[in-house]
Amino acid sequence: MDSGETGLSAEQRREQLKQVFAQAQQCVRCQELAATRRSVVFGAGNADADLMFVGEAPGASEDEQGLPFVGRAGKLLDTLLEEIGLARKDVFIGNVLKCRPPGNRDPLPLEIDNCREYLYRQVELIEPRVICSLGNFATKLLRGDPAGITRVHGRAEALTLGSRAVRLYPVFHPAAALRTPQMLETLREDFARLPKLLALPEPTQPGSLDEEPELEPEQESPLAAEPDPADQLGLF
Ligand code: URA
Repeated sequence: MDSGETGLSAEQRREQLKQVFAQAQQCVRCQELAATRRSVVFGAGNADADLMFVGEAPGASEDEQGLPFVGRAGKLLDTLLEEIGLARKDVFIGNVLKCRPPGNRDPLPLEIDNCREYLYRQVELIEPRVICSLGNFATKLLRGDPAGITRVHGRAEALTLGSRAVRLYPVFHPAAALRTPQMLETLREDFARLPKLLALPEPTQPGSLDEEPELEPEQESPLAAEPDPADQLGLF
């Protein structure tokens, strides 16, 4: 049984992630998004991944399927992963917002605030070493700085998200790279540096190792007696 910074085993962390998933499925913090979404796109992949990707928000295909990055940008993401010897099952893919903004409009500041806790809990429970922010939006938010992606892509920096210290590695958004061949070339070069980044020692973690988790491990899962939607969807 391995233990990470939460002091929980990978299986315990996955169980807690399923509880956060269940909470997010019921979320109505953003009235407009809750009223217009078809699904809450929580994110998918390996719940114990060293590498996590964070995009902006689900689009139409993602909203329909309940899965992140399933459109053309997602196919490119799959290819880029394959080129460095990885697959979706090795990484976790999520977004800043879990619900699709109508008409793919930009997320609103209040929506980002409402959704921040879910993202931070994902980071705390998955315990990635590296978080790759995809594009301007996720990068500005996670860095807490307005510097654009053109300036900061391909450069890793240690920072703390929630209670987890990670290396943030901003790259161009695959959707933008689909439109601009030069950007695609740069995105490929940035991806090629990921394996070395993943091999670095983990950044020093803040706080004590035995901090109380927000959700008690022994707390019974609301999904315990029923078929587990996270399992059924094969999300993580
Ligand atoms: N673009 C994003 O930022 N996220 C998705 O899930 C799909 C497209």
